Amino acid sequence: MKLSMIGTGYVGLVTGVCLANCGNDVVCLDVDKAKIEKLKGGKSPIYEPGLDDLLERNISSGRLRFSTDAFESHKDADMIFICVGTPSDERGHTDMKYIHSAADQIAEVLIKLGPAAKSKVVVVKSTVPVGTSIMVRNRIREKVGAEIKFEIANNPEFLKEGAAIDDFNKPDRVVCGVENEATGQRMRDLYDPFVRNGHPIYIMEILSSEMVKYASNAMLACKISFINEMANLCEAYGANVTRVREGMCADKRIGNQFLYPGLGYGGSCFPKDTLACIMMGEKAGVPTPVNKAVHELNQGQRDRFFNKIMSHFKAKDAPGGLSGKTLAFWGIAFKPKTDDIREAPAITLMRKALGYGAKCKAFDPVANENARRDLGPAVDIVDDMYSAAEGADALIVATDWDEFKSPDFDRLAKLMKGKVIFDGRNLYRPQQLADNKFSHYSVGRAPVVSG
Ligand code: NAD
Repeated sequence: MKLSMIGTGYVGLVTGVCLANCGNDVVCLDVDKAKIEKLKGGKSPIYEPGLDDLLERNISSGRLRFSTDAFESHKDADMIFICVGTPSDERGHTDMKYIHSAADQIAEVLIKLGPAAKSKVVVVKSTVPVGTSIMVRNRIREKVGAEIKFEIANNPEFLKEGAAIDDFNKPDRVVCGVENEATGQRMRDLYDPFVRNGHPIYIMEILSSEMVKYASNAMLACKISFINEMANLCEAYGANVTRVREGMCADKRIGNQFLYPGLGYGGSCFPKDTLACIMMGEKAGVPTPVNKAVHELNQGQRDRFFNKIMSHFKAKDAPGGLSGKTLAFWGIAFKPKTDDIREAPAITLMRKALGYGAKCKAFDPVANENARRDLGPAVDIVDDMYSAAEGADALIVATDWDEFKSPDFDRLAKLMKGKVIFDGRNLYRPQQLADNKFSHYSVGRAPVVSG
């Protein structure tokens, strides 16, 4: 099939590359010229394991091309995928400006092609408030008139950054919302190669398909906030959340995924998607107390962790608190194996610490460049985890990258000014830190205070 992607971010690029890799002819379009130039040169603008290889292979086979020209990108396409961002605006509503511009761009191309052109399927892949795909259809229809043929579909994406290629190639399920049987069959034909493992393709009506994405993300966010609430109760009553988690997750009905206590969720999806559920509820007059609690708890989890840092230093050298202290951060990305720093807990904590007069040093295996762009010179971002710790009064572990899991504590003790670790991802056993004479604060477990 001939396909075009509008937006070459985490979703558009991975979708384009994986669809090209199984034989389709794909053009990826973006308004960001620098991104497209980089991609034309075979370089990925994002970090995603396995992406560079596939990019190179499919560019050289001629199946994958990049463009900033909408007409060139879409003119031959059987399907046009809208993969633009749908961030929250300052009130928490979904900002639809990229969706609108994508719809208008498609309408212009369809008008140029005229009524004789074959009917294309416009596929909304971005995560969108329920009703958006129909709005996109109506917006295009109003501009192109009744003569020009096209179909609309919704096809939410469930990939996880850091495992995006695998997730796309072996999805647990594919969900497609369509308005007729024929479009459903076209979507099925496209995705058949990805479900050879027997996993299902669900064809349903568009409004349900849009809702599947929100329901899935809201549920996952809910699991994270739930275990964090339990961790906070564990702290208050002296229980150990690691033991509680083991005991609880052994129940098959509960399972053990997405039940890790820590700094809460970040990234470009869960925060905005829970907010979008709340906003959809407000618009329809439907209460959404669960989503509201999930969101509030998640925001509060960062404050709660920051307060542990504050109380440690206030207790030690009142009244100065954090002023003049150096905090080292291990991990900036919102989760391991990605360079995405959107809504990352580390960024929130660093901004807070800077506000209290602390100095921050930070290291992330792949997100340093994005962090430098976001934080500017306020944070000293270094290229090695031990350099970050050098001279620091405390170390904060904000992302659970593998390389932070078994550090050389002797080396750390020699490098650091203060022997304190704030372990936002529960990477270390408290006893391990006590043995190494470090103070250790984690989530849902008793602190270790070494003298
Ligand atoms: P992103 O911000 O990384 O990429 C969006 C891209 O679209 C940008 O490169 C931007 O320049 C481009 N763009 C915007 N308007 C355009 C236009 N009119 N024409 C061409 N290009 C345009 O976003 P993302 O993380 O890939 O997310 C895209 C959508 O997919 C969102 O709705 C998101 O919620 C959803 N989603 C994201 C993930 C994820 O893990 N990132 C997973 C599932 C679903």
